[in-house]
Amino acid sequence: MKCLVVADLHYALKQLDWVQLAAEKLDLVVIAGDLLDLASMVDREAQTVVVLKYLERIARKAPLLVSSGNHDGTERNTADEAIARWLEEAREGGVLVDGDSWERDGTLFTIFPWWDGPVSREEVAQLLDKESKKTFKKWVWVYHAPPDNSRVSWTGKKHAGDTFLVDWIHQYKPALVLSGHIHQSPFRENGSWVDRVGETWVFNTGRQIGPEPAFIILDLEKNTAAWTSLAGREMIDLNDISAQPQEA
Ligand SMILES: [Zn+2]
Repeated sequence: MKCLVVADLHYALKQLDWVQLAAEKLDLVVIAGDLLDLASMVDREAQTVVVLKYLERIARKAPLLVSSGNHDGTERNTADEAIARWLEEAREGGVLVDGDSWERDGTLFTIFPWWDGPVSREEVAQLLDKESKKTFKKWVWVYHAPPDNSRVSWTGKKHAGDTFLVDWIHQYKPALVLSGHIHQSPFRENGSWVDRVGETWVFNTGRQIGPEPAFIILDLEKNTAAWTSLAGREMIDLNDISAQPQEA
């Protein structure tokens, strides 16, 4: 099973076109948050309409898993935390979104919402607890923010990841965590698109300008990952716990 992972498309419609085309040759597509862009000239309500159409089209080509990111929360919950309720509309088009899960060949993918405060963070904790009780060989998390204190959350000056996620990774030991959020991590010295936290492989696709997003292809049979961006192409063998990414 070959899985495409992108994140932080930020309303780059050319990149969404690219994903739609790429989906035809893949078994699964993951978009790990930040579909919308807070800094865009287009208001976010209008962005949601366009993005939902894209998601539906991509989902006709391949199973599609989409998590929310910090740019995607257009509404507020009772605790005044931003939430991406609009994304739930994508379910009508067959897209799996925040709170959903998808399983194939013993690999369980769980999609986590962006948490914006203690109430939405508790929802993440409850989802983790619920999903952990399922039966699976391998657990994969789609989770917009990368774990703190890892190469995939390095800004070039400091780590800016999710500290709660670090604890959850140690507690539940998922096989893989698919993230974005810190756009520059893979492009900075001492940063990367892949790292390990305990026994877990963690990823950050990075964000780039232009018509193609930076992307990761996971081969879940061979247990390899390849990252392609304007900076080149790298691969890693996930069977080897001490492996480092190699130029490909
Ligand atoms: Zn982003």
